[in-house]
Amino acid sequence: MTIKAYGAHAADQPLGPLDISRRAPGAHDVQIEIAYCGICHSDLHTVRSEWPGTQYPCVPGHEIVGHVSAIGAAVTRFAVGDTVGVGCLVDSCGQCGSCAEGLEQYCESGMVGTYNGPTPDAPGHTLGGYSQRIVVKDDFVLRISHAPEQLAAVAPLLCAGITTYSPLRHWQAGPGKKVGIVGIGGLGHMGVKLAHAMGAQTVAFTSSESKRAEAKALGADEVVVSRHADEMAAHAGTFDLIINTVSASHVLDAFTMLLKRDGTLVLVGAPSEPHPSPSIMPLVFKRRAIAGSLIGGIAETQEMLDFCAARGIVSDIELIPAQQINAAYERMLKSDVKYRFVIDSKTLGE
Ligand code: NAP
Ligand code: ZN
Repeated sequence: MTIKAYGAHAADQPLGPLDISRRAPGAHDVQIEIAYCGICHSDLHTVRSEWPGTQYPCVPGHEIVGHVSAIGAAVTRFAVGDTVGVGCLVDSCGQCGSCAEGLEQYCESGMVGTYNGPTPDAPGHTLGGYSQRIVVKDDFVLRISHAPEQLAAVAPLLCAGITTYSPLRHWQAGPGKKVGIVGIGGLGHMGVKLAHAMGAQTVAFTSSESKRAEAKALGADEVVVSRHADEMAAHAGTFDLIINTVSASHVLDAFTMLLKRDGTLVLVGAPSEPHPSPSIMPLVFKRRAIAGSLIGGIAETQEMLDFCAARGIVSDIELIPAQQINAAYERMLKSDVKYRFVIDSKTLGE
């Protein structure tokens, strides 16, 4: 079955319309008509080969929501018409220690990404959510219980939401903890909403003066414009946890200095160029840590979706037709998005 998609044939070419095919659903597969797909900065890093290993044609998109249109004979947890989501991963080995713990994103044999992952399906790598339809193994399909009119704004939870939720939970953000979120883009604005909802004292760090007022409306108790050294210095040595979502290389010392003894700076932003090596002494003298975190497992993604549905939490989005994807990428590079572009999938056919 041929469907419409949007993607690129090479790193230096814009995205454009493509025809792709999806497999017929196997016994354990769920076929989903995609309603909306968010645009993650990882889509841009991948399609432009800013990270190694992109295979073409590349169809990005891993913030997928839609409705089930067919199920395989062995599928019991989903029915035709269900509202569902697909995030960043569509398969893993299911056998290793990480998979056994529900940490499929850290699968020791390598998880299969929703795009650019290995698959026997043509063309030999997975094609993502900038497309009309996707077929996914049932274990990797998430249930969505938000109100139907919120569906477009739920899409970004599938990556931006879980990528911030997982480290907030792992490092125990909550009442009595002071949590910083650096970079108020797609991931960062979800980080602020989630840290606030978990009850942590939440501080937003932005390089954009224009986001100062708005970040408070997202749930930040305080907003720091990181270009102002005096504002930064006022928070020295006070954070339990800082989650850094910035998509570009920058000096980390300004943030490690803000951690308490035993505090952790978690890097989730994945710039193509490395950050300058952090200074050692600020780490050593306060036993501070720098860590990383990758999206979240399937069970935790479901937990995050349910957590958000119960509290009415969604992303702040700008809904666009597929024909504006390239323009959206340029605006994302200028930090000019509040706070996530979402593609209206019905425009793929236009
Ligand atoms: P985004 O919407 O473009 O947001 C990134 C934000 O970083 C910008 O809005 C801006 O916020 C800040 N920023 C950008 N360039 C900067 C610079 N030169 N100096 C200082 N701040 C800068 O991107 P996103 O979709 O949230 O993704 C962020 C990063 O996380 C990307 O690298 C992406 O690939 C990565 N990612 C990682 C995972 C994971 O599992 N670890 C998952 C998804 C995405 P301000 O305007 O507030 O400064
Ligand atoms: Zn993403």
